[in-house]
Amino acid sequence: MKLSNQYHQLGQSFSQQTLPSPVAQPILLLWNGPLAQSLSINYSSQKDSELLAQYFSGNQLIDGSTPIAQAYSGHQFGHFNPQLGDGRAHLLGDITDKQGQYWDVQLKGSGTSFFSRQGDGRCALGPALREYMMSEAMFALGVPTTRCLAVVATGEAVYRERALPGAVVTRIATSHIRVGTFQYFAARKDIESLKKLTSFSIGRHFPEIKLASSAEVISDVILPSSQNVIDFFAAVLNKQVALVVSWLRVGFIHGVMNTDNTAISGETIDYGPCAMMNHYHSDTVFSSIDRNARYAFGNQSKIIQWNMARLADCLLPLIDEDEDIALAKITPLLHKFANDLQYRYFEMMVNKLGISELADGDIDLVNDLLGIMSDMKLDYTQSFVTLAANLNQAEVDNVLAMKVAQESAEGAIDDEAEQDKWQQWLSRWYVRIAADISAAKDLMAKTNPLVIPRNHHVEVILASSQTSYQENGDLSDLNKFLAVVQQPYTQLDNTHNYQDTPSDGDENYHTFCGT
Ligand code: AMP
Ligand code: MG
Repeated sequence: MKLSNQYHQLGQSFSQQTLPSPVAQPILLLWNGPLAQSLSINYSSQKDSELLAQYFSGNQLIDGSTPIAQAYSGHQFGHFNPQLGDGRAHLLGDITDKQGQYWDVQLKGSGTSFFSRQGDGRCALGPALREYMMSEAMFALGVPTTRCLAVVATGEAVYRERALPGAVVTRIATSHIRVGTFQYFAARKDIESLKKLTSFSIGRHFPEIKLASSAEVISDVILPSSQNVIDFFAAVLNKQVALVVSWLRVGFIHGVMNTDNTAISGETIDYGPCAMMNHYHSDTVFSSIDRNARYAFGNQSKIIQWNMARLADCLLPLIDEDEDIALAKITPLLHKFANDLQYRYFEMMVNKLGISELADGDIDLVNDLLGIMSDMKLDYTQSFVTLAANLNQAEVDNVLAMKVAQESAEGAIDDEAEQDKWQQWLSRWYVRIAADISAAKDLMAKTNPLVIPRNHHVEVILASSQTSYQENGDLSDLNKFLAVVQQPYTQLDNTHNYQDTPSDGDENYHTFCGT
């Protein structure tokens, strides 16, 4: 395993070169074998456990690594903080996979840096395990996401409200460049760094955007043309559409969509206060610090637009010196973004209903279903699973025959009872998909997970894992759970163990920033 560090090459204003702080007694708890393999990291958790614990605690440097803490700013709950940065993370470097894609290898919980402010630079074991579980589940659900390569226990306590076991988590991402990274340089009116960052981002994420070789070059970086910047912004927007629509598909609530937690790659990053929605309601919030429900489930499309408008603010001076001209070029992209989000959302929702293409009336079909789910407090995931499970020709024929009979019966009364609403909705849906029920079933099976990392299971497993690990190094509950959520579209022997909805609807469930 050998690392380089491309980001470090960008220069001193981008990061602080700083080493991880060693930990007392590193023990490898989790090792993501398939991810390691995809990165050609040929170590095994059995044979090389001790060495891996040294590497992925930060105690020993991997060959070629130049650890840095990256600088960034960010709007947190709408308020701009000009200086955030990696206060407890070290970008060890990057590694290329067989396809030539670069991946950042980052430690989190690995000690303080210039950006730590009052923080201790450390991470508690619970949030580290939670990030591993959630990000693996999200990856398997088909959601773009950062992933975890390893969790190493440090053998040291971290002090939050009480003493907790500490851990270092290794995060793999196509990059850790955030909207807040652009804001950092925009806030400092450092146009040259903004241009370098844009070029770097294009090279890393969107190599199809060709930087003109005749363009201005500063310390080996070809600076982007105005058109390059526009193309870059459009490409970032496309990634965000795919990201947010897939969150909405599986019922994911990020919980802290600050601009420093919005990666330009469109990967889910920062699993601190995230949670999964149970019964459908667009206002669902679990994060204890999100008091105004800014990051509620149904607000995520709006918030990503707000965040992208903040990225646009940063890019304006790179597009044209005349702000009005720059705005005229970038505004249509934001309008298109809003339309794309809307269209792709409904397209995804009809896919969940086994309909491959949006047609007239489908938006009402979706919204009416969500209205019923919301009124009846129906579980989002389980509703689609049940709809698919009950879908068969005989049932469809039966309901449609009843519908015809009802409609022809004189004086049929619609008593507005919820059950009636449900039956009415069902027959509308059956009419819509009657032409090819087996195609509808196939599409539903691909779009609707059987199992998601439900909050109540995640919390029980985290609690039991932390005790059993300390008592006898046992993480078997966690590994059993992982084996199921890593195949969320397949009915395994154990799948049913994790499908149940919380008895109290998660009414008193609250998440916290994972610090
Ligand atoms: P987050 O809430 O994880 O998005 O972090 C927001 C900011 O706080 C980032 O600059 C983090 O690096 C910093 N931060 C969070 N926790 C700690 C910690 N324990 N020590 C130092 N800095 C931290
Ligand atoms: Mg963060």
